[in-house]
Amino acid sequence: MAQECLTSQGRIVEFAAAVRPFDFALAPGDEIVPKAAMRRLPSVDALLRLPELAAARAEHGHAATAQAVRTVLAGYRADPACDVPDPAGLASKVCEELASRAQSSLRRVFNLTGTVLHTNLGRAVLSEAAVAAADLAMRAPCALEFDLAGGSRGDRDTVVEGLLCELTGAEAATVVNNNAAAVLLVLAALAARREVVVSRGELVEIGGAFRIPDVMRAANVRLVEVGTTNRTHARDFEQAIGPRTAALMKVHASNYRISGFTAEVAQAEVAAIAHAHDLPFIEDLGAGSLIDMTELGLPKEPVVRDCIAAGVDVVTFSSDKLLGGPQAGLIVGRKDLIARIRRHPLKRALRVGKITLAALEATLLAYRKPDLLARDLPALRALTRPLEEMEALGQRIGPCLAAALGEDWKVRTVTSTAQAGSGSLPDRAIPSLALAMRPQGKPGRALEKLAARFRALPVPVIGRIHDGALLLDLRCLDDEAGFLEQLELL
Ligand SMILES: *Cc1c(COP(=O)(O)O)cnc(C)c1O
Repeated sequence: MAQECLTSQGRIVEFAAAVRPFDFALAPGDEIVPKAAMRRLPSVDALLRLPELAAARAEHGHAATAQAVRTVLAGYRADPACDVPDPAGLASKVCEELASRAQSSLRRVFNLTGTVLHTNLGRAVLSEAAVAAADLAMRAPCALEFDLAGGSRGDRDTVVEGLLCELTGAEAATVVNNNAAAVLLVLAALAARREVVVSRGELVEIGGAFRIPDVMRAANVRLVEVGTTNRTHARDFEQAIGPRTAALMKVHASNYRISGFTAEVAQAEVAAIAHAHDLPFIEDLGAGSLIDMTELGLPKEPVVRDCIAAGVDVVTFSSDKLLGGPQAGLIVGRKDLIARIRRHPLKRALRVGKITLAALEATLLAYRKPDLLARDLPALRALTRPLEEMEALGQRIGPCLAAALGEDWKVRTVTSTAQAGSGSLPDRAIPSLALAMRPQGKPGRALEKLAARFRALPVPVIGRIHDGALLLDLRCLDDEAGFLEQLELL
């Protein structure tokens, strides 16, 4: 029986030379273990009593520590060929096991991809003020829905509504979970069971399954497409309006451009048509911006205030794209329409929490000081970082990187192109600098392997492979010391 079992597990080859059959103790379901090794392993209780594990028990609790002890012992039991350390060594393995289990899976990373607002890496990094405000909101009760003057119940939207109106020129504002939620809610509240007219050139798909036709369907709205992919005219909107029309809508082509023989109907023109028929005009602006980005030397991006001024009745945009705040969807516009949106049952399902509202308010407050924005908001700071600053940074850390990688890699500072990301400022590359690592010999899979080594660091470093090199874009590297500190672990 034992013989059969051994053969079927294919282990006999490994230790037949060193251990004779009677050294094995097998119970049903047991791992195959030489008695010799088992004797050298202490019991769970004996390990738990070690003074070396007292601190671990105080931090992680008895149950988790005991579980970690069992896991570590099982590991040694399963591998009879390996050497079992002394009790102090076992204790330190237990501490490692506990630390690895306690580690958050939402790991901090270095975003050196060159995409500043990287959706997969959490988009905007928040300002110090936003972090402090969120921290405070988490630590103590706050007047989230409470009118301090009257002592009565309030509305959470009032936390940011005044600021949003001030910064956009809108009459009213409300906030939901993200811009996708904002679009869904606006459509459900203003157009359910009716029709919304959109140009065929604007039926956007944003990465991660946001597609205008699908959102329309989910909101129980019938999409009426007008025009063609490249050209839509005012008369296309005019002719599509009928008794079932609920609204006209524009969607910002966030992540693509239609060029060549094109025609688009300007906001003011769509607004005039909508208002002549007493219909609301909705615009999904995607990223949207509260300021003119060209004043910061960045590519042009639509400004929310301009949309309101042009006659858009309801504008939706993201709080964590160019705005540089926490994830949220902002809805600004006409008072009567915002009131209808706020009353819809989906609003309750899509509302944001106090942590988001606190961080959003602090982010919006920064826009009252437009001349300091590039200093105070990390997203705008990264987007406007001067090339000379990155060049100096590259000169300081390039040699350290070269030393850490050794002979096999050539490290150089190269010009690269960064981008805002998240569908903001699309197809407008922002000049940037990167450290490029090129394998000296035949590349093979060397680049992928090196990228994996960077990702395996305590604070994973995420770069991008381009043109035969692994690039670490310097635009978003703000923790130089933290980056250098872990190079020796590479
Ligand atoms: C990004 C984007 C969305 C989705 O916004 P989220 O905040 O990611 O939900 C919707 N519409 C447009 C045009 C966008 O650019």
